Amino acid sequence: MTESAATAKTAEIVRGNWERVQEQVAAAMEAASRNDEIQIVGVSKYVGPELTQQLVQAGCTVLGENRPQVLWAKDEWFRQNSDAQPAWHMIGHLQRNKARRTLPILSYLHSVDSLRLAKTLSEETAKIGSQLPILLEVNVTDDESKTGLPVAQLFELVEEVSDMEELRIEGLMAMSTHFSGGDQARREFAEVRKLRDKLQESFSHMEFTELSMGMSGDYREAIAEGATMVRIGSSLWEGIDR
Ligand SMILES: *Cc1c(COP(=O)(O)O)cnc(C)c1O
Repeated sequence: MTESAATAKTAEIVRGNWERVQEQVAAAMEAASRNDEIQIVGVSKYVGPELTQQLVQAGCTVLGENRPQVLWAKDEWFRQNSDAQPAWHMIGHLQRNKARRTLPILSYLHSVDSLRLAKTLSEETAKIGSQLPILLEVNVTDDESKTGLPVAQLFELVEEVSDMEELRIEGLMAMSTHFSGGDQARREFAEVRKLRDKLQESFSHMEFTELSMGMSGDYREAIAEGATMVRIGSSLWEGIDR
């Protein structure tokens, strides 16, 4: 983590960014005629702990990180230096050998993409006697290099994970091809929503309420297609040296 200095000036910028992002998300909800709830996950991976803390102080208390080691370090920093503790969401790939150390810190995992990972998570969660809310990350793009589970494997994974008491699948997570919005992004997000609806039909004893989709460049399209969580990073750090 390289840390550019957190000053009174950066605190003001970050606060302004947080307010603007909330307004933008609210406007997108209104444009989509939605009056249900949406969770903004503030993605703090671009900055060090002190700037991250300024975002928490501005009121954004649900934070997303994509690298386990950084998450560990920031959690440690917050425990030592901050009264307010954010709720940490893991939004990036979690290697199985990092699960044990990561789990006690996490309040939500967006990116389960294999049965092997799910098994490890379920074993490790059992050891700490808790339950972990998760999303399955699905790849609906044509780009095989993208992260996430191929659609063809989704139903089988849900079937397997539904037997793991320690994991509670709450929905799906996905990314669009270019992160920049437009018609293609909208079609891809619509695809994710339809998959969720199909899962709900097939597994009626479960509840797939969450759709984590949409970032700084494509949150409007995601919200139009029913996102319940948007993961916003860059917009929150505009004007900050990072
Ligand atoms: C970095 C990241 C984001 C945030 O993206 P921005 O374009 O900076 O808003 C969202 N989701 C994931 C998985 C990420 O890695």
